[in-house]
Amino acid sequence: MLLDLDGFKNLNDRYGHALGDRVLVAIAQRLKQVARGSDVVARLGGDEFALLLRGLPHMDKVERLAERILSLTSAPCEIDGKRYELTGSLGITLFPLDSADPDTLLRHADQAMYQAKEGGRNRYHLFDAEQDQQAQTRRQLLDRLATGLAADELVLYYQPKVNLRTGQVIGLEALLRWRHPEQGLLLPGSFLPHVEHHDLIVEIGEWVARQALAQLSTWNKAGLAVPVSINVAARQLLQGDFVDCMRHCLEDFPGVPPGLLEIEILESAALENTRHVRGVIEACWSMGVSFSLDDFGTGYASLSYLRDIPAETLKIDQSFVRDVLEDSDDLTLVEGIIGLATAFRRTVVAEGVETPEQGVLLMRLGCDIAQGYGIARPMPAADIPAWVAAYQPDPQWALWADTHWEMSDFPLLVAQYDHIKWVRRILLYMDGAALQLSPGELCDHHQCRFGHWYYSHGRRRYGHLLEFQELEPIHIAVHQLGPSIVELRKSGNQERAREQVHELLALKDQILEKLGALQHCVATAVTEPAFFQAGLF
Ligand code: C2E
Ligand code: MG
Ligand code: MG
Repeated sequence: MLLDLDGFKNLNDRYGHALGDRVLVAIAQRLKQVARGSDVVARLGGDEFALLLRGLPHMDKVERLAERILSLTSAPCEIDGKRYELTGSLGITLFPLDSADPDTLLRHADQAMYQAKEGGRNRYHLFDAEQDQQAQTRRQLLDRLATGLAADELVLYYQPKVNLRTGQVIGLEALLRWRHPEQGLLLPGSFLPHVEHHDLIVEIGEWVARQALAQLSTWNKAGLAVPVSINVAARQLLQGDFVDCMRHCLEDFPGVPPGLLEIEILESAALENTRHVRGVIEACWSMGVSFSLDDFGTGYASLSYLRDIPAETLKIDQSFVRDVLEDSDDLTLVEGIIGLATAFRRTVVAEGVETPEQGVLLMRLGCDIAQGYGIARPMPAADIPAWVAAYQPDPQWALWADTHWEMSDFPLLVAQYDHIKWVRRILLYMDGAALQLSPGELCDHHQCRFGHWYYSHGRRRYGHLLEFQELEPIHIAVHQLGPSIVELRKSGNQERAREQVHELLALKDQILEKLGALQHCVATAVTEPAFFQAGLF
């Protein structure tokens, strides 16, 4: 432990050093009461004491001892009939929890003592090895990243955004990478969060803007005029001179039409100060730069926020897109965001599209622009021209390109995913999980979510269509198989249960096929027999 007296200098200045010395002696005497056995109490210098106390079996004891030391220190000293009062701040570190060498232990106790002072004095503070480690790691990373920035170790990768309906490449997002000489190519998630609240992020942001503009200039000269978006951190966006900085960057690349530059801001960044952000957006507009709201839906935006932040584009966060095919709640959320964007006349971009099927669904929901591994992974700038030249959209997208989906048919899409979910719950049960279906949902074909839709909205809207009518017997068979599988598994007849699972999966495929036909029929309003014969469903 390291004890430093609070306000001792004042006492010295006011009453003279001779008196100060006597107070020190009095306090030293008291501290000795705490020591036992081979404990050590030492005056390190000035008004600083070190206490090396052994054999403290648990935290309780440490805390009680710390309290005692503080109260001993703050008890008034009587000298020549006068009372003098002082307090102390105590820093503590515990060996072997803090398994450092003696010098370092002393330094840690010293750091903790400073924190006790900062916390308001006359208190103790326990050194937190983990916290210290983190702080140190952050400091090292910050230094290393600053060096990396200067040494040209940062690079931008580019990820295409495409229009699913037209097959065009409509933009590229610049994504930061760190070519670390020892650790290889690092993703921004491993270093940016540590510098987010530091000015270095502003420097990096400026580098990113210039780098992207330089790249735009190169591509532009080569005849490739694709817009590039850059990500801007909250701290950078909220800098008073952000707009000026962007203007200077643009001026330095006169060959680049400013309309090719787009800024992506995190929803949460704009949330901090909507009025300021609005001003920034409008000022940048006047230069020709446009904006999108990144990771939309993950912040805590209210609807008024959508009104106040005039960014032209919303990027639906990839966490919603990831499970859009499996989770009807995510599907509803995505649909809701697309509806909002449409109502506010914003463009929507779906992030994290990994499969062609996700693309089909998004297009049908009214989101035509997508970005994700399913289209292309982020790649070095040098690979972009060849990729753009060779890009072929997924053939599935072309099939749906001419169809437009009515909002009122949306429950038909959800029904599909509700059925998939039901089947998945049976599969999970087979794998040993608890059954996440109520007896009604399991056995009664009216009571599962698909059934709810089928016998209400579905029947009203599509009851006259053959594709719809053909669903019923298959769905009833599903609800005969489900309970049977559950029974078989309960009674330990795994083999037979597994056989029936195969039958169930076949029924599921039939339902999806019929639903696909129904959806296509609804979306095009005319059936195209040749289309189905081609075996595309
Ligand atoms: P973001 O702006 O939302 O960028 C999209 C992230 O999702 C990128 O990760 C991208 O590689 C990844 N991604 C794209 N498609 C898929 C997909 O289909 N599946 C999955 N699982 N991921 C996909 P990355 O490059 O690691 O960047 C992460 C975040 O770091 C970015 O999220 C952005 O917020 C931030 N960031 C990236 N570059 C910069 C930069 O230059 N400046 C600042 N301030 N932040 C940046
Ligand atoms: Mg982004
Ligand atoms: Mg994002």
